[in-house]
Amino acid sequence: MEIFHESNREKFLWIGYHQTRGWVILDRLLHPNKANHKSGDNFYFVRCIDWTIYKEKKSNWGEPNYIFVINYLENLDNDKRKTSEEEGTKFLKEFLNKKRHDFHKKYIETIHNNFLKQKGSKPSTIIKAIKRRESVCWSCHDTVDNKYDFECSACGWIICSNCGACKQFGC
Ligand SMILES: [Zn+2]
Ligand SMILES: [Zn+2]
Repeated sequence: MEIFHESNREKFLWIGYHQTRGWVILDRLLHPNKANHKSGDNFYFVRCIDWTIYKEKKSNWGEPNYIFVINYLENLDNDKRKTSEEEGTKFLKEFLNKKRHDFHKKYIETIHNNFLKQKGSKPSTIIKAIKRRESVCWSCHDTVDNKYDFECSACGWIICSNCGACKQFGC
């Protein structure tokens, strides 16, 4: 059980159970899922069974829709608890070790291409830079840092993880 508390506390990763979707993860490191993120009404969850991303209204997060893993396991019968605990642990580890990076990348790719589409520009790919740079997003004024953020392969600017913008008059 400790692994669940630990991931919630130290790795900013909430795992729980949803009535119809089964095991789900709320990755608090993803920009719109951060506790201090004010704008937007939605969280982006991952459904563990097929690792798909879906949007959920922030107000829906909580019981009885979403039950934190510990509370969920405590209410199960003894025999079911053990297999469920193993299942949840397996998903949690797989996400941390393999899926988390892809999940962040896929999310940035989506908001970046939405941004380009709105501007009437062509879609672009995203890359990870080697040389460290920090700046401020011209569009929403959030800080951008390519240590964490990706760059646009077309214009070379750091993509804002809040609004998806790259270069103002570039792309
Ligand atoms: Zn921005
Ligand atoms: Zn660009």
